[in-house]
Amino acid sequence: MGIVVKKYGGTSVGSAERIKEVARQIIKAKEKEPEIVVIVSAMSGETDRLIALGHEICSVPDKREMDVLVSTGEQVSSALLSMALIEMGCPTISLNASQIEILTDKFHTKAKICKINTDRIMKELSKGKVVIVAGFQGITEDEDITTLGRGGSDTTAVAIAGALQADICEIFTDVDGVYTADPRIVAEARKLDIISYEEMLEMASLGAKVLHPRSVELAKKFGVKIHVLSSFVVVHGTIVTEEVADMEELLISGVTANAKEAKITVMDIPDKPGMAGKLFSALSDVNINIDMIVQSETRGKTNDISFTVDETDLQKTIEVVKESVREIGAGEISYDRDIAKVSIVGVGMKSHSGVASKMFKSLAEHNINIEMISTSEIKISCIIRISAMEEAVRVLHKAFFDTH
Ligand code: ADP
Ligand code: ASP
Ligand code: MG
Repeated sequence: MGIVVKKYGGTSVGSAERIKEVARQIIKAKEKEPEIVVIVSAMSGETDRLIALGHEICSVPDKREMDVLVSTGEQVSSALLSMALIEMGCPTISLNASQIEILTDKFHTKAKICKINTDRIMKELSKGKVVIVAGFQGITEDEDITTLGRGGSDTTAVAIAGALQADICEIFTDVDGVYTADPRIVAEARKLDIISYEEMLEMASLGAKVLHPRSVELAKKFGVKIHVLSSFVVVHGTIVTEEVADMEELLISGVTANAKEAKITVMDIPDKPGMAGKLFSALSDVNINIDMIVQSETRGKTNDISFTVDETDLQKTIEVVKESVREIGAGEISYDRDIAKVSIVGVGMKSHSGVASKMFKSLAEHNINIEMISTSEIKISCIIRISAMEEAVRVLHKAFFDTH
């Protein structure tokens, strides 16, 4: 047996009792898996608490300092888990991103891992120790602390599994696998035994927070097999891997929703070449990702452009767009936080027609208005009112999965 990487999320290490329980599980696993590296999240609620605390001090906290603040959550849980294991007689060491050298770029609060030095982890493993790593954090070349974006401990785990060429990366969480929809919204959701990287990446990017999107991207890149499973019940979970020939042929594999986007509309943009280019390159220069874009019909010599961004980027987006609007001579800017995106995902869509019309019809039958649409080969997304989000997920799940 080679190295096994195990990641425990916030709820799994949410209390002293839970941390002791995880320690017991690791000791049991070590009987069969001698080389274990564990990645931990902060105790549940801790990252939210730290972010709120930052915002109590100032309305737009400095991002570098925010990373210093929120990265502490994972250090607390890694130390506590390590203490629990040592107390139970299992040689263990906790390490943070700077001790290991988990190098990232400089984009505070959403940094990307560039390189991991495996020397220290290998040295500690060779001494027979379980290595506990604080997830979610990294360091820049200048030794500044960064974080990888909400849910980023999954990415720490997969990146370390890739760097160590581990046999498997197990993601222990509070559900027992990846479902056809969030089981907290759709009681009838089905657990998937296996899902391809491609579909899982779409689902994660479109709001299925069970895995951080970047973790799936890295798993695909480095061929890391992921097993998503529960730390509360012992059952086989969901394997995320290359597409294999005998995978179940589903038309769609999941319904997802994301409430954390905001829509910005820029009015009266001159109808001439280069305007959209100017608007969006200014945003990409500051690392803001644009999701959906819709341009209106031309009225006289102008048109309007609406687009969506991650809610956390709204303030910065407005600042940057204001500047561009001045430059290109466009009109008013408005924004709307009360939107949500519902999506259906599945490679089966590639070879079937009528999927989009079925989605639109199902939403219409429940009086859910579609404000924006975007499609790719394997997904269709609609922007709707946030108040209709959960109903929309249930409606779409019923339309595509209810075979009775
Ligand atoms: P952790 O703290 O372990 O990282 P998260 O809260 O980040 O856990 O992710 C697990 C949660 O993801 C589940 O509790 C579930 O509500 C949610 N979730 C959303 N979509 C799905 C899905 N398709 N399958 C399973 N869980 C999902
Ligand atoms: N603690 C971080 C968060 O709450 C990272 C994680 O849990 O993966 O977003
Ligand atoms: Mg998570």
